[in-house]
Order: sequence, then structure tokens, then C-alpha cells
Amino acid sequence: SGSVRFEDVRFAYNPSRPILRGVSFEVPAGRTVAIVGPSGAGKSTLSRLLFRFYEPQGGRILIDGQDIAAVRQDSLRAVIGMVPQDTVLFNDTIGYNIRYGRWDASEADLREAARSAQIDRFIESLPEGYDTPVGERGLKLSGGEKQRVAIARTILKAPPILVLDEATSALDSFTEREIQTALDRVSRGRTTLVIAHRLSTVVNADEILVLDHGHIVERGDHLTLLARR
Ligand code: ADP
Ligand code: ADP
Repeated sequence: SGSVRFEDVRFAYNPSRPILRGVSFEVPAGRTVAIVGPSGAGKSTLSRLLFRFYEPQGGRILIDGQDIAAVRQDSLRAVIGMVPQDTVLFNDTIGYNIRYGRWDASEADLREAARSAQIDRFIESLPEGYDTPVGERGLKLSGGEKQRVAIARTILKAPPILVLDEATSALDSFTEREIQTALDRVSRGRTTLVIAHRLSTVVNADEILVLDHGHIVERGDHLTLLARR
């Protein structure tokens, strides 16, 4: 379960400047669909609508056939996991940050999530391990390390639906490749909406949609779109 469907969704922050002018697509359960397009095209707006930070001004958004207009925000957050562009960690331990929202998780689950996110060796090399304080008054983590903590949290949370918002954009290319591997692992078998501005980061998506001027102007797999460039 966990299909996501946008039906003729329209949205503007300012009535004189429409951002989405009737956007329709489906992410079938367990599939990965990527939205690419220039900066300002409205990609992040799509994910804000999915979390009901804003309501569509036309059309509707369905999860498993149910209009999300009738679903509470906290219920949505329970089924949709998000790896944001810039992860902000809580000023607490690494373990707390990975466990966040899954206080019932065992020590073994915690380690397994860290291993899948490829951050277990780093954490275990620290004298205080998972009890190491991070954030403002604790250990400063690099962008890639923070991202991996966020990925470990998402792995532990195991939501049926994932939103990856340019999740690797802030990283150098070596780290980006490592994170991409971890993300591919998380999204396997989950309904995943990837938001990206480069075609090269979404090679593995089942379908890629190009958003421009409020419309989906192209769709296809990676090779099909590359061939048209
Ligand atoms: P993308 O993710 O494709 O870069 P966004 O969805 O973030 O694009 O933004 C689409 C457009 O909406 C941009 O022109 C942006 O300036 C504008 N925008 C985004 N958020 C707001 C807001 N809260 N109020 C007004 N305009 C906004
Ligand atoms: P859950 O539904 O998993 O119990 P929430 O709905 O409270 O948790 O939050 C969803 C996700 O948003 C969390 O897994 C966490 O990644 C992130 N989050 C929530 N609040 C904060 C915050 N204050 N700072 C950073 N990330 C947060």
C-alpha cells in the first residue's frame, strides 16, 4: 500500500502568479517517481502540499485512493517519511536523533538502521558511541554525516511513503554517491517521490517527470529523457 496520486493540482502562493497549473501524476505503491525541473518550478511546493502545509486550490491529492484533505497532518506524518535537504539535528545524542519518534526501537534495530545508512562505523569509533551529544553544544557533524543520521532515522521509522527533497544536493560528489547508495536502499520497495534538479541524480527512478512553468512538460525514464536532450 501507499500509492500517491496528484489529480489536476493547482496552487499559487500569490493569485497573480500560479505555481502549479494543473499537475497530475501517480506514484504507484512501491515505485519511485522523480520530479525534476529548474529552481523555482514548484517542486518543493508539491511536497508541502503532500504534507498539507498548504491546501491545493484546485484538484486533489490521494493516498491509497483517499483524499488527503480529510486526513490529519499527524496521520500523514506517520505514513510519509522525509529526508530533507538540510537536516537539523536535535541538541541531544546521536542515538536520540536516530530513535526520534521510534522510542520502542531496540538497540539492535538502532545499530541495524545505522549500518544501512552507512554511519555505524563512524558512530562506533566515537568514545561515547551512540551517546555522543551532537548539535550546537555537542559534536559538529558534517553535512554528509547529518544526512546519514536523517537516513538512519527514516530507515528506523520505516514509513510506507518517502519524500526525498534534493537529499544529496549539499554534498561533495564522493559523499553524494555514498548517500545515494544508502537512499536507494531505503527507497527499495517503498513508494518514493524524489525531488531533484538534475537528471543525473535520478537514474534509478521508474519514471521521471519534468516540471516547468506549472506543468509537467515531459515524462519518461532516464534514458528516454536523456535521448531527447
Ligand atoms: P522548487 O522547489 O522547484 O525550487 P518551490 O516550490 O520552492 O520551487 O517554489 C516555487 C515558487 O514559489 C518560487 O518562485 C518561489 O519563490 C515561490 N515560493 C515558494 N515558497 C513561497 C512562499 N511561502 N510564499 C511565496 N512564494 C513562495
Ligand atoms: P513521527 O510522526 O515520526 O512520530 P513527527 O511527526 O513529530 O514524528 O515528525 C516527523 C519527522 O520530522 C521526524 O521523524 C523528524 O525527522 C522530523 N522532525 C520533527 N520535529 C523536528 C524538529 N523540531 N527538528 C528537526 N526535525 C524534526
